[in-house]
Amino acid sequence: MHALPRRGFLFAGAAALATRIAAQTPRESPSRDALIDDVVTANHILAAQEIVDAFGHVSVRTAPGAGRYLISRSVAPAQVTAADVMELDLDSKPAAGEKRTSYRERFIHGEIYRVRPDVMSIVHCHAPALIPFGITRIPLRPVYHNSSFVGEGVPVFEIREGGGDTNMLVETAELGRALAKALGNKPAVLMRGHGAVIVGKSIIESVARSVYLEVNARVQAQAMAMGQRISYLDEGEVKKRAEDPDPYGRAWDLWKRQVMQGAR
Ligand SMILES: [Zn+2]
Repeated sequence: MHALPRRGFLFAGAAALATRIAAQTPRESPSRDALIDDVVTANHILAAQEIVDAFGHVSVRTAPGAGRYLISRSVAPAQVTAADVMELDLDSKPAAGEKRTSYRERFIHGEIYRVRPDVMSIVHCHAPALIPFGITRIPLRPVYHNSSFVGEGVPVFEIREGGGDTNMLVETAELGRALAKALGNKPAVLMRGHGAVIVGKSIIESVARSVYLEVNARVQAQAMAMGQRISYLDEGEVKKRAEDPDPYGRAWDLWKRQVMQGAR
């Protein structure tokens, strides 16, 4: 088990702040190069935070309302470079002539973007701390402020429903649609015996939610092991937290700085 995220902060420079706001404000469309950079950064942050390992992926919609998204070709997140990022449509097909192939489970992304116009970015991971909550009847509940979105509900996708016995991978459009249905209008969905999908209105939100969803699972399991009644965040607290327009900007700036320093 790795340590809880280190506390820390840095003073975001004007440029970093502008990039962050651009990445989060749907009306201002960041350039394609900026979006590709965000996909690379997100992959490296998720790997550094141990949310993904050799497997897992993150995507971003090309523009609000667009039927296309950017995602890496099929390589480990820590190894993703700008040259690996490719564009797929909502059928999760690349443009004609594209020789590279993306992840087998790319249908997760296309089918969620299709039915969730509010979603601008999607993460799929297999973080071990999340698995117990997908294979028991114990629901994830919000244990602290950073993961208050858990209080909006984190359902569990049962691939056997409709899929029967599978290899557990969401590798068809049909399974992608079933997963999107299980997610509904929620911020995340657990996948029984497999992992989770986390969505956000920006790539910053999907990445930060992924990090804090995993922390929530670890802390909740620790609290439950202590055998006492647990005080979870209540509905009113969850609602008030959801009103914060930029809860994760500082975290993104810090994580981005850390992965950039690590790459030198
Ligand atoms: Zn998977």
